[in-house]
Amino acid sequence: VKNSGQCFKNQAAIDWNLSLYILVQATTTSLAVGSLVWVEDSDIAWIDGEVMQVNGEDIKVLCTSGKTVVVKASNVYPKDAEAPSCGVDDMTKLAYLHEPGILQNLKSRYDMNEIYAIASNGFFQTYTGNILIAVNPFRKLPHLYDSHMMAQYKGADFGELSPHPFAVADAAYRLMINEGISQSILVSGESGAGKTESTKLLMQYLAYMGGRAAAEERTVEQKVLESNPVLEAFGNAKTVRNNNSSRFGKFVEIQFDPRGRISGAAVRTYLLERSRVCQVSDPERNYHCFYMLCAAPSEDTKRYKLGNPRAFHYLNQSNCYELDGIDDSKEYAATRRAMDVVGISSEEQDAIFRVVASILHLGNIEFAKGKEVDSSVPKDEKSWFHLRTAAELLMIVDKINSSIGQDSDSKFLIGVLDIYGFESFKTNSFEQFCINLTNEKLQQHFNQHVFKMEQEEYTKEEINWSYIEFVDNQDVLDLIEKKPGGIIALLDEACMFPRSTHETFAQKLYQTFKNHKRFSKPKLSRSDFTICHYAGDVTYQTELFLDKNKDYVVAEHQALLTASKCSFVSGLFPPLAQESSKSSKFSSIGSRFKQQLLSLLETLSSTEPHYIRCVKPNNLLKPSIFENKNVLQQLQCGGVMEAIRISCAGYPTKKPFVEFVDRFSLLAPEVLDGSSDEVAACKKLLKKVGLQGYQVNV
Ligand code: ADP
Ligand code: MG
Repeated sequence: VKNSGQCFKNQAAIDWNLSLYILVQATTTSLAVGSLVWVEDSDIAWIDGEVMQVNGEDIKVLCTSGKTVVVKASNVYPKDAEAPSCGVDDMTKLAYLHEPGILQNLKSRYDMNEIYAIASNGFFQTYTGNILIAVNPFRKLPHLYDSHMMAQYKGADFGELSPHPFAVADAAYRLMINEGISQSILVSGESGAGKTESTKLLMQYLAYMGGRAAAEERTVEQKVLESNPVLEAFGNAKTVRNNNSSRFGKFVEIQFDPRGRISGAAVRTYLLERSRVCQVSDPERNYHCFYMLCAAPSEDTKRYKLGNPRAFHYLNQSNCYELDGIDDSKEYAATRRAMDVVGISSEEQDAIFRVVASILHLGNIEFAKGKEVDSSVPKDEKSWFHLRTAAELLMIVDKINSSIGQDSDSKFLIGVLDIYGFESFKTNSFEQFCINLTNEKLQQHFNQHVFKMEQEEYTKEEINWSYIEFVDNQDVLDLIEKKPGGIIALLDEACMFPRSTHETFAQKLYQTFKNHKRFSKPKLSRSDFTICHYAGDVTYQTELFLDKNKDYVVAEHQALLTASKCSFVSGLFPPLAQESSKSSKFSSIGSRFKQQLLSLLETLSSTEPHYIRCVKPNNLLKPSIFENKNVLQQLQCGGVMEAIRISCAGYPTKKPFVEFVDRFSLLAPEVLDGSSDEVAACKKLLKKVGLQGYQVNV
């Protein structure tokens, strides 16, 4: 019977300051007629049943669905008949740590609105290496997040209360205070899985812990919290997968003074999806701010010459204008208020909304051929109107940071990263390419931390175990970002060479990576390419790669915008320095993004990481639907299964001697024999009961 993945487990919260423990390895279970088991199922991933017949390697199972199947013994997993129906909050407490067991546990918890669970990892039980799994409830659970809850988690030992983002934030906060190490909390998951909501909870808790009692002025923590609605107004949009999808990555750095009070904060953002401004497909929406502004009070819409969103080309490419349960006019007022709190003056707010409005007007200008060769003029009077309006309004995100106030002396920080999850659509363009690169990078960071650290720890403690292989994705990263020769470098090259097209670029890729095992050319395509990512294959369409990678403003536009009488607008487009305008210094989005990622990863590696893996239980965005296969795939993409696998391959259960004797001496009471030597007692006990697969570390 298969050994790996079936672990003997029995564990309570243990203080790992003790370095004395007994390690218990995976045990094997035998299959007999009557055993309860899990077998693979094409619809629901795993189904439970009872063994009816054992015929060598072939096992006949009567499934709970009523079907009988014959499967190979190596594909059958034991089912824990005694598993509590409400599930367990820490999965290392499961009798069997295997895929079906984990899935079943998450599902039974989810059915009871217990949306959080922990997948602990070996030695780091108490602190890092813990992965909090958060399954999106798609319904409001306010009792979970009120101030009473925050008070409960304050100072509680990790694992003492139910798993919760507050518990993660609390552990990070206390580690920072006690050990003086900066912390980071990495929140990941696919679009709509709940990353942004989890991030907000983390920030809410950190603001609660590090806030000042009396607030005479707007405090840093208030500003940090209020930066959310501002960023969301301009950076979030409705997509197919999420009504409030962040189209940018966000790293919020909260700085603390040595007493643990918040002393400053900074928000870093990554790669806003720009193409959405001019191109929206049904049933998605453009960025929220456009609809909010159209729904603003009439004095504002008059000033900006706006009205029905259906009149604007950038909005009417899609038939979706309103969102269920969201009132854009209320959102407009809320955004204005949040901008006040964050410290954006009303003049600056006006300037920002002028830009937003003028974008809509610019979108409505249609061009016709002009009299001169290669010239164009606005097509009709309507187009002239929009052009004039845009020009008037223009007289066309560092802001938030300068007003929040950064503390550059601060030594400790807790960073919270909310970044777009892995994306794979029917068509995938440059944005998906960058997003998936980010995820590859973060996955590597996760692998390195969780897996390598665990292995090193075993080595250090001189524990015998065979190294288990984990999927290293360095080869994908090389494929994408190696310099020279990686995809980004080749793309930059293509962008600099005036005669290249997406087809020549694709040809170059095919030639260069002919034999790369992570790269392939789809059969019937002339310009697509496929990358074998850690989370699965994604085929990219190169059509817009070159345009989207080029990052420059046409010189004439630059001059026009720099000359704007509105200081906000001219500030966005500072005059180019003499040299740089001449020596056509090429800047590309891809390379800049790569650079940003590098610095993000540098920051992260100087911190102690904590992980939250958000899971979207269904694609309908509805409560109470838990789709097994869907969830399983996300757990695999997020490295959760891999983390559990490595736990199983080692010695996942560790017990201090005293506890071991306490708990198990009833199996052989004579081992105690009046002696106070617990180590000797443990050894005798282990021998007596004939347990295999353990080590004693003194
Ligand atoms: P992501 O940032 O991963 O794309 P969001 O955090 O925006 O996803 O979550 C998508 C939606 O799911 C939210 O707008 C909200 O309706 C719902 N949601 C997510 N997490 C929770 C939660 N903990 N409680 C209630 N609803 C949630
Ligand atoms: Mg989000």
